Amino acid sequence: MLNNTVPFLLIIFLFNISQAQRPQVKRQQAKTETLSAKPKLVVGIVVDQMRYDYLTRFENKFGTGGFMRMINEGFNCKNNHFNYVPTYTGPGHASVYTGTTPKYHGIIGNNWYDKEIKTSVYCAGDDEVQSVGTSASSGQMSPHRMKTTTFGDENRLFTQMRGKTIGVSIKDRGAVLPAGHTANAAYWFQGKDEGNWISSTFYMNDLPKWVKDFNAEKSVSKYLTEWNTLYDINTYTESGSDLNTFEGGFKGKETATFPYQLDVLKDENGGYDLLKATAYGNSLTTDFALAALKGEQLGQDNDTDVLAVSYSSTDYVGHNFGVNSKEVQDTYIRLDKDLERLFNALDAQVGKGNYTVFLTADHAAIDVPAYLKSVKIPSGYLDNRKTKKQFEAFMEITYKDSDLIENVSNNQIFLNREKIKALGLNLTDVQNAIVNELITYDHIDKVYAATTMRSTQFTIGIEALLQKGFNQKRSGDVIIVPEPAFISYHKTGSTHGSGLNYDTHVPLLFFGNGIKHGQTLQKTEITDIAPTMSALLGISLPNGAIGKPLEIVLE
Ligand SMILES: [Zn+2]
Repeated sequence: MLNNTVPFLLIIFLFNISQAQRPQVKRQQAKTETLSAKPKLVVGIVVDQMRYDYLTRFENKFGTGGFMRMINEGFNCKNNHFNYVPTYTGPGHASVYTGTTPKYHGIIGNNWYDKEIKTSVYCAGDDEVQSVGTSASSGQMSPHRMKTTTFGDENRLFTQMRGKTIGVSIKDRGAVLPAGHTANAAYWFQGKDEGNWISSTFYMNDLPKWVKDFNAEKSVSKYLTEWNTLYDINTYTESGSDLNTFEGGFKGKETATFPYQLDVLKDENGGYDLLKATAYGNSLTTDFALAALKGEQLGQDNDTDVLAVSYSSTDYVGHNFGVNSKEVQDTYIRLDKDLERLFNALDAQVGKGNYTVFLTADHAAIDVPAYLKSVKIPSGYLDNRKTKKQFEAFMEITYKDSDLIENVSNNQIFLNREKIKALGLNLTDVQNAIVNELITYDHIDKVYAATTMRSTQFTIGIEALLQKGFNQKRSGDVIIVPEPAFISYHKTGSTHGSGLNYDTHVPLLFFGNGIKHGQTLQKTEITDIAPTMSALLGISLPNGAIGKPLEIVLE
Protein backbone atom coordinates (compact mmCIF):
# COMPACT_ATOMS: atom_id res chain seq x y z
CA MET A 1 0.00 0.00 0.00
CA LEU A 2 2.66 2.40 1.10
CA ASN A 3 4.77 1.52 -1.94
CA ASN A 4 1.96 2.51 -4.22
CA THR A 5 1.05 5.70 -2.42
CA VAL A 6 4.47 7.30 -2.23
CA PRO A 7 5.18 7.54 -5.98
CA PHE A 8 1.65 8.82 -6.52
CA LEU A 9 2.13 11.62 -3.96
CA LEU A 10 5.50 12.36 -5.47
CA ILE A 11 3.93 12.82 -8.89
CA ILE A 12 1.40 15.28 -7.49
CA PHE A 13 4.16 17.11 -5.69
CA LEU A 14 6.37 17.37 -8.79
CA PHE A 15 3.42 18.45 -10.87
CA ASN A 16 2.77 21.29 -8.45
CA ILE A 17 6.38 22.42 -8.57
CA SER A 18 6.45 22.56 -12.34
CA GLN A 19 3.13 24.44 -12.33
CA ALA A 20 4.60 27.02 -10.01
CA GLN A 21 7.67 27.50 -12.18
CA ARG A 22 5.96 27.86 -15.54
CA PRO A 23 5.62 24.44 -17.20
CA GLN A 24 8.53 23.26 -19.32
CA VAL A 25 6.24 22.29 -22.23
CA LYS A 26 4.68 25.69 -22.46
CA ARG A 27 8.09 27.36 -22.47
CA GLN A 28 9.28 25.20 -25.33
CA GLN A 29 6.16 25.77 -27.40
CA ALA A 30 6.53 29.52 -26.98
CA LYS A 31 10.24 29.42 -27.76
CA THR A 32 10.35 32.18 -30.35
CA GLU A 33 8.20 34.34 -28.12
CA THR A 34 10.41 33.68 -25.10
CA LEU A 35 13.58 34.53 -27.01
CA SER A 36 12.33 37.89 -28.18
CA ALA A 37 10.90 38.77 -24.78
CA LYS A 38 13.04 40.60 -22.27
CA PRO A 39 14.86 38.77 -19.53
CA LYS A 40 12.91 38.60 -16.27
CA LEU A 41 16.16 38.98 -14.39
CA VAL A 42 19.62 40.34 -15.20
CA VAL A 43 22.36 38.97 -12.97
CA GLY A 44 25.55 41.01 -13.05
CA ILE A 45 28.58 39.21 -11.63
CA VAL A 46 31.79 41.04 -10.86
CA VAL A 47 34.73 38.89 -9.77
CA ASP A 48 37.06 41.16 -7.84
CA GLN A 49 40.61 41.10 -9.29
CA MET A 50 39.86 38.43 -11.94
CA ARG A 51 42.44 38.34 -14.72
CA TYR A 52 41.32 37.17 -18.15
CA ASP A 53 43.93 34.42 -18.20
CA TYR A 54 42.38 32.63 -15.20
CA LEU A 55 39.71 31.47 -17.66
CA THR A 56 42.31 29.88 -19.91
CA ARG A 57 44.90 28.85 -17.31
CA PHE A 58 42.45 26.98 -15.08
CA GLU A 59 40.15 25.81 -17.88
CA ASN A 60 40.90 22.10 -17.46
CA LYS A 61 40.03 22.28 -13.75
CA PHE A 62 36.64 23.89 -14.29
CA GLY A 63 33.41 21.89 -14.50
CA THR A 64 30.77 22.37 -17.19
CA GLY A 65 28.22 24.27 -15.10
CA GLY A 66 30.11 27.45 -14.13
CA PHE A 67 32.55 29.51 -16.19
CA MET A 68 32.49 26.93 -19.01
CA ARG A 69 28.70 27.00 -19.20
CA MET A 70 28.89 30.74 -19.84
CA ILE A 71 31.51 30.15 -22.55
CA ASN A 72 29.81 27.11 -24.11
CA GLU A 73 26.29 28.56 -24.17
CA GLY A 74 26.99 32.27 -24.28
CA PHE A 75 29.38 34.85 -25.64
CA ASN A 76 33.05 35.31 -24.71
CA CYS A 77 34.66 38.74 -25.25
CA LYS A 78 38.27 37.64 -24.96
CA ASN A 79 39.92 40.99 -25.34
CA ASN A 80 37.99 43.10 -22.85
CA HIS A 81 39.75 45.95 -21.05
CA PHE A 82 39.41 48.73 -18.55
CA ASN A 83 39.70 52.01 -20.42
CA TYR A 84 40.90 54.29 -17.64
CA VAL A 85 43.35 54.61 -14.75
CA PRO A 86 43.18 53.88 -11.80
CA THR A 87 42.06 50.24 -11.92
CA TYR A 88 40.68 49.96 -8.38
CA THR A 89 37.58 48.32 -6.91
CA GLY A 90 35.39 51.43 -6.40
CA PRO A 91 35.93 52.93 -9.86
CA GLY A 92 35.69 49.42 -11.40
CA HIS A 93 32.27 48.59 -9.99
CA ALA A 94 30.97 52.08 -10.81
CA SER A 95 32.23 51.85 -14.41
CA VAL A 96 30.76 48.39 -15.08
CA TYR A 97 27.27 49.52 -14.07
CA THR A 98 27.28 53.14 -15.30
CA GLY A 99 29.04 52.50 -18.62
CA THR A 100 31.33 55.44 -18.06
CA THR A 101 34.64 56.28 -16.40
CA PRO A 102 35.82 58.26 -13.34
CA LYS A 103 35.99 61.37 -15.54
CA TYR A 104 32.17 61.36 -15.52
CA HIS A 105 30.94 59.14 -12.66
CA GLY A 106 33.36 60.75 -10.24
CA ILE A 107 34.51 57.63 -8.37
CA ILE A 108 38.21 58.37 -8.86
CA GLY A 109 39.51 55.87 -6.29
CA ASN A 110 38.50 53.75 -3.32
CA ASN A 111 39.55 56.68 -1.15
CA TRP A 112 40.60 60.09 -2.35
CA TYR A 113 41.51 63.49 -1.02
CA ASP A 114 38.51 65.80 -1.21
CA LYS A 115 39.84 69.21 -2.28
CA GLU A 116 36.80 71.08 -0.96
CA ILE A 117 36.57 69.68 2.55
CA LYS A 118 40.33 69.04 2.71
CA THR A 119 40.08 65.51 3.99
CA SER A 120 40.24 61.97 2.65
CA VAL A 121 36.89 60.44 1.74
CA TYR A 122 35.76 56.86 1.04
CA CYS A 123 33.96 56.13 -2.24
CA ALA A 124 30.87 54.60 -0.59
CA GLY A 125 31.07 56.31 2.81
CA ASP A 126 28.13 58.47 3.92
CA ASP A 127 27.93 60.09 7.37
CA GLU A 128 24.34 61.12 6.70
CA VAL A 129 23.06 57.54 6.90
CA GLN A 130 23.08 54.96 9.69
CA SER A 131 24.00 51.28 9.86
CA VAL A 132 21.23 48.71 9.65
CA GLY A 133 21.87 45.26 11.13
CA THR A 134 24.97 46.20 13.12
CA SER A 135 25.98 48.67 15.77
CA ALA A 136 29.30 49.17 13.97
CA SER A 137 29.76 52.18 11.67
CA SER A 138 30.46 49.83 8.74
CA GLY A 139 26.87 50.25 7.60
CA GLN A 140 27.17 53.99 6.95
CA MET A 141 27.30 53.62 3.18
CA SER A 142 25.50 54.98 0.12
CA PRO A 143 26.25 55.67 -3.55
CA HIS A 144 25.98 59.48 -3.09
CA ARG A 145 29.50 60.18 -4.43
CA MET A 146 28.68 58.46 -7.74
CA LYS A 147 27.40 61.19 -10.04
CA THR A 148 25.77 59.23 -12.85
CA THR A 149 23.13 56.51 -13.15
CA THR A 150 23.55 52.75 -13.52
CA PHE A 151 21.61 50.60 -16.00
CA GLY A 152 19.72 49.34 -12.94
CA ASP A 153 18.65 52.93 -12.20
CA GLU A 154 17.44 53.32 -15.78
CA ASN A 155 15.55 50.03 -15.48
CA ARG A 156 13.89 51.28 -12.29
CA LEU A 157 12.83 54.49 -14.03
CA PHE A 158 11.62 52.55 -17.09
CA THR A 159 9.53 50.10 -15.04
CA GLN A 160 8.01 52.83 -12.82
CA MET A 161 10.10 51.38 -9.97
CA ARG A 162 8.45 47.95 -10.35
CA GLY A 163 11.64 46.19 -11.52
CA LYS A 164 13.82 45.62 -8.46
CA THR A 165 17.56 46.13 -7.99
CA ILE A 166 19.44 44.27 -5.25
CA GLY A 167 23.22 44.46 -4.68
CA VAL A 168 25.18 41.77 -2.81
CA SER A 169 28.88 41.69 -1.97
CA ILE A 170 31.23 41.09 0.94
CA LYS A 171 32.69 44.55 0.26
CA ASP A 172 30.28 47.45 0.82
CA ARG A 173 31.48 49.28 -2.30
CA GLY A 174 31.02 46.08 -4.34
CA ALA A 175 27.32 46.10 -3.41
CA VAL A 176 26.50 49.82 -3.08
CA LEU A 177 27.93 51.21 -6.34
CA PRO A 178 26.54 48.50 -8.70
CA ALA A 179 23.10 48.69 -7.06
CA GLY A 180 22.94 52.39 -7.93
CA HIS A 181 20.91 55.28 -6.57
CA THR A 182 17.43 53.80 -6.81
CA ALA A 183 18.26 50.32 -5.48
CA ASN A 184 15.77 48.53 -3.28
CA ALA A 185 18.70 47.31 -1.24
CA ALA A 186 22.40 46.66 -1.09
CA TYR A 187 23.83 44.19 1.42
CA TRP A 188 27.42 43.63 2.51
CA PHE A 189 29.20 41.49 5.08
CA GLN A 190 30.08 42.48 8.61
CA GLY A 191 32.89 40.23 9.88
CA LYS A 192 34.63 40.42 13.28
CA ASP A 193 32.47 38.58 15.84
CA GLU A 194 29.21 39.23 13.94
CA GLY A 195 29.29 37.36 10.63
CA ASN A 196 26.09 39.04 9.42
CA TRP A 197 24.81 40.69 6.24
CA ILE A 198 24.07 44.36 6.83
CA SER A 199 22.82 47.48 5.04
CA SER A 200 22.19 51.19 5.64
CA THR A 201 19.30 53.59 6.23
CA PHE A 202 19.87 54.82 2.67
CA TYR A 203 17.82 51.75 1.69
CA MET A 204 15.75 50.75 4.71
CA ASN A 205 15.22 51.24 8.42
CA ASP A 206 15.18 47.58 9.29
CA LEU A 207 16.46 44.40 7.59
CA PRO A 208 13.72 42.41 5.83
CA LYS A 209 12.64 39.14 7.44
CA TRP A 210 14.52 36.95 4.96
CA VAL A 211 17.81 38.70 5.82
CA LYS A 212 17.15 38.47 9.57
CA ASP A 213 16.34 34.77 9.16
CA PHE A 214 19.48 34.23 7.10
CA ASN A 215 21.65 35.95 9.72
CA ALA A 216 19.93 34.11 12.59
CA GLU A 217 20.77 30.74 11.03
CA LYS A 218 24.49 31.54 11.37
CA SER A 219 25.13 29.32 8.35
CA VAL A 220 28.34 31.27 7.84
CA SER A 221 29.89 29.41 10.81
CA LYS A 222 30.06 26.22 8.78
CA TYR A 223 32.85 27.76 6.71
CA LEU A 224 35.12 28.19 9.74
CA THR A 225 36.61 24.81 9.02
CA GLU A 226 39.66 23.54 7.17
CA TRP A 227 40.58 25.19 3.86
CA ASN A 228 42.43 22.64 1.78
CA THR A 229 42.64 22.34 -1.99
CA LEU A 230 39.46 20.94 -3.57
CA TYR A 231 41.49 18.50 -5.68
CA ASP A 232 44.90 16.93 -5.04
CA ILE A 233 47.34 19.84 -4.84
CA ASN A 234 49.79 17.94 -7.06
CA THR A 235 47.35 18.30 -9.93
CA TYR A 236 47.45 22.11 -9.64
CA THR A 237 50.20 22.43 -12.22
CA GLU A 238 48.88 25.77 -13.52
CA SER A 239 50.20 27.74 -10.53
CA GLY A 240 53.51 28.19 -8.70
CA SER A 241 54.81 25.99 -5.87
CA ASP A 242 52.81 26.28 -2.64
CA LEU A 243 55.84 27.26 -0.56
CA ASN A 244 57.71 30.31 -1.86
CA THR A 245 58.83 33.77 -0.76
CA PHE A 246 56.20 35.73 -2.73
CA GLU A 247 53.18 35.06 -0.50
CA GLY A 248 51.84 36.71 2.65
CA GLY A 249 49.75 34.20 4.59
CA PHE A 250 47.74 34.38 7.81
CA LYS A 251 48.77 35.36 11.31
CA GLY A 252 49.36 32.31 13.48
CA LYS A 253 50.60 30.08 10.66
CA GLU A 254 54.26 30.05 9.78
CA THR A 255 54.01 29.24 6.09
CA ALA A 256 51.53 30.30 3.42
CA THR A 257 50.78 26.68 2.56
CA PHE A 258 47.72 24.41 2.54
CA PRO A 259 45.87 23.33 4.61
CA TYR A 260 44.57 26.25 6.70
CA GLN A 261 42.68 25.52 9.93
CA LEU A 262 40.32 28.49 9.85
CA ASP A 263 38.67 27.72 13.19
CA VAL A 264 42.10 27.92 14.82
CA LEU A 265 43.28 30.96 12.83
CA LYS A 266 40.10 33.03 13.21
CA ASP A 267 40.93 34.70 16.55
CA GLU A 268 44.20 36.13 15.30
CA ASN A 269 42.75 37.13 11.91
CA GLY A 270 39.67 39.20 12.68
CA GLY A 271 37.07 36.52 13.47
CA TYR A 272 34.62 36.21 10.58
CA ASP A 273 36.76 38.66 8.60
CA LEU A 274 39.11 35.71 8.01
CA LEU A 275 36.47 34.12 5.76
CA LYS A 276 36.58 37.11 3.41
CA ALA A 277 40.19 36.23 2.63
CA THR A 278 39.52 32.58 1.78
CA ALA A 279 37.72 30.76 -1.04
CA TYR A 280 34.75 30.32 1.31
CA GLY A 281 33.94 34.04 1.19
CA ASN A 282 32.60 33.41 -2.32
CA SER A 283 30.49 30.50 -1.07
CA LEU A 284 28.86 32.57 1.65
CA THR A 285 28.23 35.33 -0.92
CA THR A 286 26.52 32.74 -3.14
CA ASP A 287 24.44 31.49 -0.19
CA PHE A 288 23.23 35.03 0.43
CA ALA A 289 22.60 35.77 -3.26
CA LEU A 290 20.42 32.63 -3.42
CA ALA A 291 18.55 33.80 -0.33
CA ALA A 292 18.00 37.19 -2.02
CA LEU A 293 16.70 35.49 -5.17
CA LYS A 294 14.05 33.73 -3.09
CA GLY A 295 13.43 36.39 -0.46
CA GLU A 296 12.87 39.14 -3.02
CA GLN A 297 11.11 36.87 -5.55
CA LEU A 298 13.47 38.10 -8.26
CA GLY A 299 12.63 37.34 -11.88
CA GLN A 300 9.05 36.25 -11.16
CA ASP A 301 7.13 38.81 -13.22
CA ASN A 302 7.44 40.76 -16.46
CA ASP A 303 9.24 43.77 -14.97
CA THR A 304 12.94 42.96 -15.27
CA ASP A 305 14.82 42.77 -11.97
CA VAL A 306 18.57 43.28 -11.52
CA LEU A 307 20.70 41.27 -9.11
CA ALA A 308 24.25 42.64 -8.80
CA VAL A 309 26.61 40.15 -7.19
CA SER A 310 30.27 40.90 -6.54
CA TYR A 311 32.69 38.22 -5.39
CA SER A 312 35.27 39.97 -3.21
CA SER A 313 37.31 37.06 -1.83
CA THR A 314 39.22 36.60 -5.08
CA ASP A 315 40.73 40.07 -4.46
CA TYR A 316 41.68 39.40 -0.82
CA VAL A 317 43.29 36.08 -1.78
CA GLY A 318 45.18 37.69 -4.69
CA HIS A 319 46.48 40.52 -2.51
CA ASN A 320 47.65 38.09 0.14
CA PHE A 321 49.09 35.24 -1.94
CA GLY A 322 49.69 36.69 -5.40
CA VAL A 323 48.12 35.84 -8.75
CA ASN A 324 50.35 32.83 -9.35
CA SER A 325 49.57 31.06 -6.04
CA LYS A 326 47.92 27.71 -5.37
CA GLU A 327 45.54 29.65 -3.10
CA VAL A 328 44.31 31.74 -6.06
CA GLN A 329 43.94 28.65 -8.22
CA ASP A 330 41.89 26.85 -5.58
CA THR A 331 39.76 29.95 -5.03
CA TYR A 332 38.82 29.99 -8.73
CA ILE A 333 38.18 26.24 -8.87
CA ARG A 334 35.81 26.65 -5.93
CA LEU A 335 34.23 29.82 -7.36
CA ASP A 336 33.43 27.79 -10.48
CA LYS A 337 31.38 25.44 -8.27
CA ASP A 338 29.63 28.40 -6.64
CA LEU A 339 28.71 29.80 -10.06
CA GLU A 340 27.29 26.42 -11.04
CA ARG A 341 25.18 26.45 -7.87
CA LEU A 342 23.96 29.97 -8.71
CA PHE A 343 23.09 29.13 -12.33
CA ASN A 344 21.26 25.93 -11.29
CA ALA A 345 19.17 27.94 -8.85
CA LEU A 346 18.39 30.50 -11.57
CA ASP A 347 17.32 27.67 -13.90
CA ALA A 348 15.03 26.27 -11.24
CA GLN A 349 13.54 29.50 -9.96
CA VAL A 350 13.53 31.89 -12.93
CA GLY A 351 13.74 29.32 -15.72
CA LYS A 352 16.37 28.62 -18.35
CA GLY A 353 16.28 31.30 -21.01
CA ASN A 354 14.36 33.72 -18.81
CA TYR A 355 17.41 35.39 -17.30
CA THR A 356 20.61 36.96 -18.59
CA VAL A 357 23.98 36.87 -16.86
CA PHE A 358 27.14 38.85 -17.47
CA LEU A 359 30.42 38.19 -15.71
CA THR A 360 33.41 40.51 -15.58
CA ALA A 361 35.89 41.97 -13.09
CA ASP A 362 36.53 45.35 -11.48
CA HIS A 363 40.24 45.19 -12.44
CA ALA A 364 42.84 42.47 -12.85
CA ALA A 365 46.25 42.32 -11.07
CA ILE A 366 49.98 42.02 -11.57
CA ASP A 367 52.19 39.03 -10.90
CA VAL A 368 54.18 39.60 -7.72
CA PRO A 369 57.04 41.88 -8.91
CA ALA A 370 59.54 40.01 -6.72
CA TYR A 371 58.61 36.87 -8.66
CA LEU A 372 58.79 38.64 -12.03
CA LYS A 373 62.21 39.92 -11.09
CA SER A 374 63.34 36.39 -10.22
CA VAL A 375 62.55 35.38 -13.81
CA LYS A 376 64.30 38.48 -15.25
CA ILE A 377 61.23 40.54 -16.19
CA PRO A 378 61.77 44.28 -15.54
CA SER A 379 59.77 45.02 -12.38
CA GLY A 380 60.13 46.22 -8.83
CA TYR A 381 58.97 48.41 -5.99
CA LEU A 382 58.86 52.18 -5.64
CA ASP A 383 60.79 53.71 -2.77
CA ASN A 384 58.15 56.19 -1.63
CA ARG A 385 60.09 57.42 1.37
CA LYS A 386 63.09 58.35 -0.79
CA THR A 387 60.88 60.04 -3.39
CA LYS A 388 59.04 62.05 -0.72
CA LYS A 389 62.30 63.31 0.81
CA GLN A 390 63.74 64.25 -2.56
CA PHE A 391 60.53 66.00 -3.61
CA GLU A 392 60.13 67.97 -0.38
CA ALA A 393 63.71 69.17 -0.69
CA PHE A 394 62.95 70.37 -4.23
CA MET A 395 59.86 72.30 -3.09
CA GLU A 396 61.79 73.87 -0.23
CA ILE A 397 64.60 75.05 -2.53
CA THR A 398 62.32 76.19 -5.36
CA TYR A 399 59.51 77.84 -3.43
CA LYS A 400 61.07 78.26 0.05
CA ASP A 401 58.07 76.27 1.16
CA SER A 402 57.16 72.58 1.28
CA ASP A 403 53.63 73.28 2.56
CA LEU A 404 52.47 73.84 -1.01
CA ILE A 405 51.80 70.09 -1.12
CA GLU A 406 48.46 69.41 0.48
CA ASN A 407 48.13 65.68 -0.16
CA VAL A 408 49.71 62.85 -2.13
CA SER A 409 47.46 59.85 -2.84
CA ASN A 410 46.59 57.47 -5.69
CA ASN A 411 49.69 58.65 -7.58
CA GLN A 412 48.40 62.22 -7.58
CA ILE A 413 49.67 65.39 -5.96
CA PHE A 414 47.17 67.88 -4.59
CA LEU A 415 48.53 71.41 -4.23
CA ASN A 416 47.44 74.04 -1.76
CA ARG A 417 45.65 76.47 -4.08
CA GLU A 418 45.22 79.19 -1.42
CA LYS A 419 48.89 79.15 -0.58
CA ILE A 420 49.91 79.31 -4.23
CA LYS A 421 47.67 82.34 -4.65
CA ALA A 422 48.97 83.99 -1.48
CA LEU A 423 52.57 83.55 -2.67
CA GLY A 424 51.66 85.14 -5.99
CA LEU A 425 52.53 81.95 -7.91
CA ASN A 426 50.85 80.69 -11.07
CA LEU A 427 49.19 77.27 -10.58
CA THR A 428 50.08 76.01 -14.06
CA ASP A 429 53.71 77.03 -13.62
CA VAL A 430 53.94 75.19 -10.30
CA GLN A 431 52.33 72.08 -11.81
CA ASN A 432 54.77 72.11 -14.74
CA ALA A 433 57.80 72.65 -12.49
CA ILE A 434 56.75 69.59 -10.48
CA VAL A 435 56.30 67.56 -13.68
CA ASN A 436 59.83 68.45 -14.82
CA GLU A 437 61.24 67.54 -11.41
CA LEU A 438 59.45 64.22 -10.84
CA ILE A 439 60.18 62.83 -14.30
CA THR A 440 63.87 62.69 -13.33
CA TYR A 441 63.17 60.36 -10.37
CA ASP A 442 63.86 56.62 -10.35
CA HIS A 443 61.10 54.39 -11.77
CA ILE A 444 58.73 57.25 -12.50
CA ASP A 445 57.79 56.75 -16.14
CA LYS A 446 55.43 59.61 -16.92
CA VAL A 447 54.15 62.73 -15.17
CA TYR A 448 51.30 64.96 -16.27
CA ALA A 449 49.92 68.27 -15.05
CA ALA A 450 46.17 68.62 -14.54
CA THR A 451 46.29 71.49 -17.04
CA THR A 452 47.53 69.04 -19.70
CA MET A 453 44.75 66.56 -18.88
CA ARG A 454 42.23 69.37 -19.39
CA SER A 455 43.66 70.88 -22.54
CA THR A 456 44.96 67.94 -24.60
CA GLN A 457 42.88 65.27 -26.35
CA PHE A 458 44.65 61.93 -25.91
CA THR A 459 43.29 59.16 -28.09
CA ILE A 460 45.54 56.15 -27.48
CA GLY A 461 47.75 54.55 -24.87
CA ILE A 462 48.19 55.19 -21.17
CA GLU A 463 47.62 58.94 -21.67
CA ALA A 464 44.11 58.32 -22.96
CA LEU A 465 43.41 56.03 -20.01
CA LEU A 466 44.66 58.65 -17.56
CA GLN A 467 42.43 61.23 -19.16
CA LYS A 468 39.33 59.03 -18.85
CA GLY A 469 40.20 58.56 -15.17
CA PHE A 470 40.77 62.26 -14.62
CA ASN A 471 37.93 64.18 -13.02
CA GLN A 472 38.46 67.91 -13.26
CA LYS A 473 36.57 68.57 -10.06
CA ARG A 474 38.07 65.79 -7.94
CA SER A 475 41.48 64.76 -9.31
CA GLY A 476 44.85 66.16 -8.26
CA ASP A 477 47.21 68.74 -9.80
CA VAL A 478 49.91 66.34 -10.93
CA ILE A 479 49.53 62.71 -12.03
CA ILE A 480 52.40 60.25 -11.69
CA VAL A 481 52.77 57.03 -13.70
CA PRO A 482 55.28 54.46 -12.39
CA GLU A 483 57.32 52.33 -14.79
CA PRO A 484 55.62 49.13 -16.03
CA ALA A 485 55.52 46.45 -13.30
CA PHE A 486 56.72 48.84 -10.59
CA ILE A 487 54.31 49.09 -7.68
CA SER A 488 53.97 50.67 -4.24
CA TYR A 489 53.31 47.54 -2.21
CA HIS A 490 54.89 45.05 0.15
CA LYS A 491 57.09 42.38 -1.40
CA THR A 492 54.49 39.62 -1.08
CA GLY A 493 51.17 39.38 -2.89
CA SER A 494 49.68 41.12 -5.91
CA THR A 495 48.06 44.50 -6.39
CA HIS A 496 46.56 46.63 -9.19
CA GLY A 497 45.82 50.19 -10.24
CA SER A 498 47.75 50.80 -13.47
CA GLY A 499 46.69 51.13 -17.10
CA LEU A 500 48.87 48.24 -18.22
CA ASN A 501 47.39 45.05 -19.62
CA TYR A 502 48.03 43.03 -16.47
CA ASP A 503 45.55 45.35 -14.69
CA THR A 504 43.13 46.16 -17.54
CA HIS A 505 42.52 42.79 -19.25
CA VAL A 506 39.52 41.10 -17.62
CA PRO A 507 36.92 38.50 -18.65
CA LEU A 508 33.63 39.51 -20.19
CA LEU A 509 31.12 36.68 -20.55
CA PHE A 510 27.42 36.85 -21.31
CA PHE A 511 24.81 34.12 -21.39
CA GLY A 512 21.07 33.59 -21.32
CA ASN A 513 18.12 35.53 -22.71
CA GLY A 514 18.95 37.61 -25.79
CA ILE A 515 22.60 36.53 -25.96
CA LYS A 516 24.23 34.88 -28.99
CA HIS A 517 26.66 32.01 -28.78
CA GLY A 518 30.10 33.05 -29.90
CA GLN A 519 33.37 34.73 -29.12
CA THR A 520 35.43 37.68 -30.25
CA LEU A 521 38.98 38.92 -30.08
CA GLN A 522 37.90 42.39 -31.08
CA LYS A 523 38.69 44.81 -28.32
CA THR A 524 35.75 45.57 -26.06
CA GLU A 525 35.74 47.97 -23.13
CA ILE A 526 34.35 47.80 -19.63
CA THR A 527 32.10 50.78 -20.39
CA ASP A 528 30.34 48.73 -23.13
CA ILE A 529 28.65 46.44 -20.58
CA ALA A 530 25.99 48.82 -19.25
CA PRO A 531 25.01 50.11 -22.73
CA THR A 532 24.72 46.45 -23.86
CA MET A 533 22.35 45.73 -20.97
CA SER A 534 20.35 48.87 -21.79
CA ALA A 535 20.07 47.73 -25.42
CA LEU A 536 19.01 44.24 -24.34
CA LEU A 537 16.28 45.69 -22.12
CA GLY A 538 15.25 48.41 -24.58
CA ILE A 539 15.74 51.11 -21.96
CA SER A 540 17.67 54.39 -21.81
CA LEU A 541 21.44 54.33 -21.52
CA PRO A 542 22.82 55.30 -18.11
CA ASN A 543 22.99 59.11 -18.23
CA GLY A 544 26.79 59.38 -18.45
CA ALA A 545 27.48 56.24 -20.51
CA ILE A 546 30.25 56.56 -23.10
CA GLY A 547 30.47 52.88 -24.13
CA LYS A 548 28.69 51.23 -27.06
CA PRO A 549 26.19 48.37 -27.03
CA LEU A 550 28.01 45.22 -28.15
CA GLU A 551 25.80 44.30 -31.10
CA ILE A 552 27.95 41.25 -31.71
CA VAL A 553 26.73 39.57 -28.49
CA LEU A 554 23.04 40.42 -28.82
CA GLU A 555 20.54 38.27 -30.69
ZN1 LIG B 1 42.31 44.90 -4.68
